[in-house]
Amino acid sequence: RSSAASDVYKRQKAFNLIPGGVNSPVRAFKSVNREAPIFVKKGQGARIYDEDDNEYIDYICSWGPLILGHNHPKVIEEVKKIIENGSSYGLPTKYEVDLAELIVEIVPSIEKVRLTTSGTEATMSAVRLARAYTGRNKILKFEGCYHGHSDALLVKSGSGLLTDGYQDSNGITDGVLKDTLTLGFGDLEKVENLLRNEEVACVIVEPIPANMGLIETHKEFLQGLRRITEETKTVLIFDEVISGFRLALGGAQEFFGITPDLTTLGKIIGGGYPVGAFGGKREIMDLVAPVGRVYHAGTLSGNPIASKAGFATISYLKENPNIYKELAENTNYLVDNVEKLAEKYGVDVCVNS
Ligand code: PMP
Repeated sequence: RSSAASDVYKRQKAFNLIPGGVNSPVRAFKSVNREAPIFVKKGQGARIYDEDDNEYIDYICSWGPLILGHNHPKVIEEVKKIIENGSSYGLPTKYEVDLAELIVEIVPSIEKVRLTTSGTEATMSAVRLARAYTGRNKILKFEGCYHGHSDALLVKSGSGLLTDGYQDSNGITDGVLKDTLTLGFGDLEKVENLLRNEEVACVIVEPIPANMGLIETHKEFLQGLRRITEETKTVLIFDEVISGFRLALGGAQEFFGITPDLTTLGKIIGGGYPVGAFGGKREIMDLVAPVGRVYHAGTLSGNPIASKAGFATISYLKENPNIYKELAENTNYLVDNVEKLAEKYGVDVCVNS
């Protein structure tokens, strides 16, 4: 159903004022030939409603943060408690410390953590930290993994770049491109060869690749990465912006029982508000300013409202561990039925259960 409201938004306003009418490319659904974005008015639970009051079941869930759905009462209740106190102070608040404490308690590799405003910032800073810690320049990432949109990580990237048919962004200098090495996900032999022959600061990986369609992770690959990075004194970074607090409470590292040196987080830890984090071994994290000289800063880093919403979300997950079993059961139910329908209508689908 289309009506005056969405027409005004999509044609006269959004497209003229904002590139593609959206503030993040995947919202345009270009790769599935949607003519215009959906403009959301509100969300509740598993549903969203657009500007024309069309109702949708929301499988996007803000691309990850809303593991509890829209407007979960526990999250809203906590946010409401502080939202009238003020929004941001440029000074620390107890809410950041509460969130940090919970993250350190739950994520096996994290002894110290720094909050950021986005996942992009978290991965960008983790890479810089790894370079400073090792004194090496080159980094290794895997083709199709997406780690946000900082220059160094936008090489052979996944997510919107992949679905839109290109994997490298324009506007990145040759120098940066030269320092980002890439290999196919899962190719341990090549990783071993490379790390034994080149000085590499870090290997960054999505332990469950979530930005290039359905690729299975074999535990042996991650175990191999851990072994080789340890032997070559390369920093291993798990980008758990998506898998953190989702695959298991302690993320992929808890699920697979493999501990990286650094971990990046985002999405769920802000409960739907802007946030990110990088953390890991104390001796590495203590190189971050103001203790050390690896600069990371942010006007809204560790924003109190985001921290409170993240704390409420993670606390709820921690207090209701059954949620992960339910999530798996519901996903299997959905996948089974999608598979049945696909078979009935002769559509190819790829399933990993
Ligand atoms: N890492 C991964 C694995 C991601 O999926 C994303 C975003 N989808 C990012 C980093 C970047 O996070 P943000 O969009 O918050 O900058």
